Amino acid sequence: MEISDRLVDWYGTHKRDLPWRNSADPYIIWISEIILQQTRVAQGMSYFLHFTKRFPDVQSLANAHEDDVLKYWQGLGYYSRARNLHAAARQIIELYDGRFPTEYKEVLSLKGVGEYTASAIVSFVWNQPYPVVDGNVFRVLSRLFALGTPIDTSKGKKEYTELAASVMNPEKAGLHNQAIMEFGALQCVPQNPDCGVCPLQDKCAGFATGTPQSFPVKQNKTKTRNRYFHYLHILYEGKTWLNRRSGNDIWKGLYELPLIETEMPADFTRLQQTTAFRRLFGDAGKLSISIELSGIKHVLSHQILYASFYKIEIGNKAPALDSYLEIPDNNIGNYAVPRLVQLYLAEMLR
Ligand code: SF4
Repeated sequence: MEISDRLVDWYGTHKRDLPWRNSADPYIIWISEIILQQTRVAQGMSYFLHFTKRFPDVQSLANAHEDDVLKYWQGLGYYSRARNLHAAARQIIELYDGRFPTEYKEVLSLKGVGEYTASAIVSFVWNQPYPVVDGNVFRVLSRLFALGTPIDTSKGKKEYTELAASVMNPEKAGLHNQAIMEFGALQCVPQNPDCGVCPLQDKCAGFATGTPQSFPVKQNKTKTRNRYFHYLHILYEGKTWLNRRSGNDIWKGLYELPLIETEMPADFTRLQQTTAFRRLFGDAGKLSISIELSGIKHVLSHQILYASFYKIEIGNKAPALDSYLEIPDNNIGNYAVPRLVQLYLAEMLR
């Protein structure tokens, strides 16, 4: 337990004062953990405050409309997190009468809650002995033990979870988990770990190798996919049109301008030749077109989007637009849109 004790000591002196750390409310811990997945604390903080002000408890979140929840999430990315929070709040109302479940397995069964989040909630709030294993913990453990097993494999996940449990002091599970995560975030950081002043230096096999930053090891088999998006800001008599994304793809539930996606990069001449463009504008009369933004590169976790935005004033309201949502153009800011579309809208307002 010596590693755990040293981590907890270090935490007592170095921890950041973050709003969710002053709470023993599982709802608050849950929201903070979901926001902080894939998001830095500096960016997530204002979202957390904003979100919990509007949805202060399970009931208010469950009663909200999904569009409202997504609007409060706008800009954070990974929107399935927000949809899952909303669905899980409704699950808690239906299955647990609105009271946050206290058993690990019950928490784990909530929509969007994985092992990491379930462990964080039950250990932080009720000190239950479940180890957390997130990116920070992988890094700290891989360095402490100079482990070569790739972390992005099922063998690696199993090994690290066992190791995380073995270094945790079960009597201080909540403190230990928060300490090791904070230690990874502030001290044992990815590029330049602060080994010179590290309380675990004498125990660290990674430090002994001379290249602790070479841990953790990744197999990295994930391929990145390139996609080419052409957004059409269509205008007619003060109206514009939006699409609500659905299906099994990015940004489900968010709104966007009508989109044509091409397999390969396409300039406007090529775009006009596509069936989708002809279908949309075949009956739209005279078009007045301006290219507003082009060649925007937008990087997601496993996809790189290359996007262009065109403003197109049409001479007639084409029937093909009936499949989109028609709104007054000056109301466009009321809809939850992906960050990429937000960039364009911000540019338009300048
Ligand atoms: S000695 Fe360096 S690599 Fe090892 S735990 Fe400390 S900060 Fe991380």
